[in-house]
Amino acid sequence: MRIILLGPAGSGKGTQGEMIERHYGFPRISTGDLLRLEVEKDTALGKIVKKIMEAGELVADDIVLEIVRSRIAQPDCKRGYVLDGFPRTLNQAILLEKVDGSRPEIAIEIQVSEEALKQRLAGRLVCLQCGTVYNINNNKLSQCQACGARLTVRNDDRPEVVSQRFRIYRETIGPLIEYYSKKGVLFRIDGEKTPEEVFREVKSVIDSRLN
Ligand SMILES: [Zn+2]
Repeated sequence: MRIILLGPAGSGKGTQGEMIERHYGFPRISTGDLLRLEVEKDTALGKIVKKIMEAGELVADDIVLEIVRSRIAQPDCKRGYVLDGFPRTLNQAILLEKVDGSRPEIAIEIQVSEEALKQRLAGRLVCLQCGTVYNINNNKLSQCQACGARLTVRNDDRPEVVSQRFRIYRETIGPLIEYYSKKGVLFRIDGEKTPEEVFREVKSVIDSRLN
């Protein structure tokens, strides 16, 4: 089974992907993680990706597709997998079917309002020194518990950046949502509940398709 997670940054789809992996054993494939790994390993592809990222540009569809294609060809993906961060556009969805077309699939959109996202991300602090991310909605923290450095709001999490990113997300996701909806594989889930409550709904969607 191919499970595709859709949702804006901060919607919690990464967490849901991990929960699906733990519960069902379908590996979670995050294209962001895979791209970062290529850069870290300094592969030929990683070198290209690094240049694109440093220029602040989006990595082209064919590069991301190639990374996804080689990952889903691994034996652990035989039963299925969870995609997080890909496809993001209608074009990518069509490309994905060209390399792995025959699988039944589920597209789950985790819905979170712009207001809720802003609130959620405003509470997220990051340590610039060691990269640990903290959620300070519930407690007051100013120093990193791991290394003692000062915590700051990541640039990406500032309200104006969140607004802009959310607008771009809505614009590009529209045709993709419509596409999966027409195929009858789209499920919408309220992402403003706790991760456990969201997962309960995710599970009922997956279980209904497994049986
Ligand atoms: Zn730190």
